[in-house]
Amino acid sequence: MTGPFNPPVRTLMGPGPSDVNPRILEALSRPTIGHLDPAFIGLMDSIKELLQYAFQTQNRLTLPVSAPGSAGMEACFVNLLEPGDTVVVCQNGVFGGRMKENVERCGATAVMVQDDWGKAVDPTKVEEALKANPQAKVLAFVHAETSTGARSDAKTLCALAKQYDCLSIVDTVTSLGGIEVDVDGWGADAIYSGTQKCLSCVPGISPVTFSERAIEVIKARKNKVQSWFLDMDLVMGYWGGESKRAYHHTAPINALYALHESLLILKEEGLQAAWERHDLHHRALAAGLEAMGLSLVVAPEERLPQLNSVSIPDGVDDATVRQQLLANYSLEIGAGLGALAGKVWRIGLMGFACNRKNVLFCLGALDSTLTAMGADINSGVAVNAANKVYG
Ligand SMILES: *Cc1c(COP(=O)(O)O)cnc(C)c1O
Repeated sequence: MTGPFNPPVRTLMGPGPSDVNPRILEALSRPTIGHLDPAFIGLMDSIKELLQYAFQTQNRLTLPVSAPGSAGMEACFVNLLEPGDTVVVCQNGVFGGRMKENVERCGATAVMVQDDWGKAVDPTKVEEALKANPQAKVLAFVHAETSTGARSDAKTLCALAKQYDCLSIVDTVTSLGGIEVDVDGWGADAIYSGTQKCLSCVPGISPVTFSERAIEVIKARKNKVQSWFLDMDLVMGYWGGESKRAYHHTAPINALYALHESLLILKEEGLQAAWERHDLHHRALAAGLEAMGLSLVVAPEERLPQLNSVSIPDGVDDATVRQQLLANYSLEIGAGLGALAGKVWRIGLMGFACNRKNVLFCLGALDSTLTAMGADINSGVAVNAANKVYG
C-alpha cells in the first residue's frame, strides 16, 4: 500500500470496537492544542464530571488513563497491590484470567474462584473463598464478561468485599453505558472501563475511578508502584484538579475530544434511557435468533444485552460464516474466545450500534448466509420475530 489508508465502511457488531458515532469522529478531527493549554484544562474538568456521571460516583480520583482498557485494569492492580498481598479473583471467562496475570505480576497471590464460562460469578463461592482467606486484601471480578455475555451481580459482590474487609476491583469495560454501573451505590473501590464498547468512542482510552478507601491504600504503600506510567500518585499531579497541573505525559488530546463527545452523547440520552435501549434491542435480537432455531449461551436472567453469545449450529463452520458476513454485508460479528472458541458467535449491540436497523440487518444477513449454506435453521422468520418485540 502506498497511498492513504481508506478503511472499508463496516457495521461493527462484535465484542468491540463498536460503531463510532459520526459526532465523535467529527470531534476527533478538531484542531489539536497543547495539553497544558488553559482551554484544554477546561476540557479535562468537564471529562472528569461526565465520567463521574457515567460511573455514578462522587470519587475525586476519576480520570481517563491514556491507554486501552487493559491499561485501566493494570492501573487498578499495580496501584492497590504490593508484593505478598492476596487477592480473590473470580474467573468465568477470559478477562478473569487476565486479572490473575496482573495479580501475579505484582508479586501477589491469586486465590481463584472458578465458574463455568457463560455463567455469572457465584457469590456463595466467593464468600467461601473470602472466609477461607482472611488475609485477602482485594476481591476482583468482571461485571460484564465480554468473552461469554454473562453479567455478574456487582452490588452483591462489592458488599461481600466490604463485609470481609477487602477492597474491590471491578471490570466495567463492557458494562459502562450499556447496563447500570453504580460505583457509589455498590461501594466499589477501583473500577476501570474502556471507550470502544458501549461508549462507542474510538479505542485507546480507559476511564478509571478510585474510592477514598482505595486512595488511602495507595497513599500508605510501602513500595513504589512498579509502573511509572500508571502510578496514580504521579498521574494525579496532572489530572488532580485543585493545584497546578504538572507535565506527566502528553495526553492523547484528540482522543479526549472524542471521549468528551461520547460522554456528552450518553448524558444527553440519559443513563436510564441508554440501559433501556440496550435491553429493548437485545430482546428483539434474541427473539429473532431463537425464532431461527439458534440458542443463546447465557441464561436469560444473566444475559448482557450488549453481548450476545450464540451457539453455532452443528455442521456450520464458524469462520466461513463470519467471512461471508464481512465480504457480503460488511458486517463484523465476533468469534468465540478460549473455552468457547469455534462454538459461539458473539453479537455485540453496543452503544451507537445498538439500534433497530442493526438488529434487523444482522438477523437478515445471518439468516440469508446460513440458509444459502444449507444450515438446519428456520429460514425467513427471524426479522418478523424481532419486529414483534418492537410492536
Ligand atoms: C475489551 C475488554 C477489556 C480490554 O480492553 P482493551 O481496550 O481491549 O484493552 C478488558 N475487560 C473486558 C471485560 C473487556 O471486554
